[in-house]
Amino acid sequence: MTRKRRQIYEGKAKILYEGPEPGTIIQYFKDDATAFNAEKKEVIDGKGVLNNRISEHIFLRLGEIGIPTHFIKRLNMREQLVHQVEIIPLEVIVRNVAAGTMSKRLGIEEGTALPRSIVEFCLKDDALGDPLIAEEHITAFQWASPQELDDIMTMALRINDFMSGMFAGIGIKLVDFKLEFGRQYENDMVRTVLADEISPDSCRLWDVKTQKKLDKDRFRRDLGGLVEAYQEVAERLGILNRSSEPQKGSRPVLVKSDRDPKAEK
Ligand code: C5P
Repeated sequence: MTRKRRQIYEGKAKILYEGPEPGTIIQYFKDDATAFNAEKKEVIDGKGVLNNRISEHIFLRLGEIGIPTHFIKRLNMREQLVHQVEIIPLEVIVRNVAAGTMSKRLGIEEGTALPRSIVEFCLKDDALGDPLIAEEHITAFQWASPQELDDIMTMALRINDFMSGMFAGIGIKLVDFKLEFGRQYENDMVRTVLADEISPDSCRLWDVKTQKKLDKDRFRRDLGGLVEAYQEVAERLGILNRSSEPQKGSRPVLVKSDRDPKAEK
């Protein structure tokens, strides 16, 4: 018997549905691409499938090094089962190389290596355009507690170290990325866990040799070839078959051995 699932939330790139067990959520990856606070929009065939798979891969690897995450398992080509969390209203941005809004704001040329990794916080509020905020604002307005902020900072830097190495190993420079965290409640306990997604939608990824952009800047800057670039990232991560020809509109081919046998049923 089939029944309609209850939709909990629809965001710019994902839809959340009520999960099969209490405390679980189904995260559905759409093909919609948006930029500049949704002023620029397009549907890009195949993007959701690739992000679902790339994000699964990264969350699993982060779980293996001890980062607590909301991820439970991938269900099919477009959906993941995740723990329900209360999203902390922050966009946590980690930067290794100057780019994007930081270059614009501070007049630092894109591509300039930063003397050390920089963590920035933005308030997650579309109506305000996700403004940059200081740690002072976060604790003063109680968007997160000092302990949560401490946990977030430690995890963000650990994630950066791990992901920088992971991407360097496949010839990709991790320029910057955005993380979101949530509060996971378990009986009378609450813990801070990594939530949302990590994909080429939320990272800047440059080919080490050619500097080619393999991320959402291809859409933001009208460079074209977004799906091909995401496929390239997935291929290098070992998620996609090398033989699968990158064609616009083609469905990505998953590597069989890397599939969760319980998934896609
Ligand atoms: O636009 P900006 O340079 O501040 O973005 C820094 C990083 O955070 C980029 O990798 C971008 O993709 C990501 N980001 C995001 N979602 C936002 C803002 C930034 O994924 N709302």
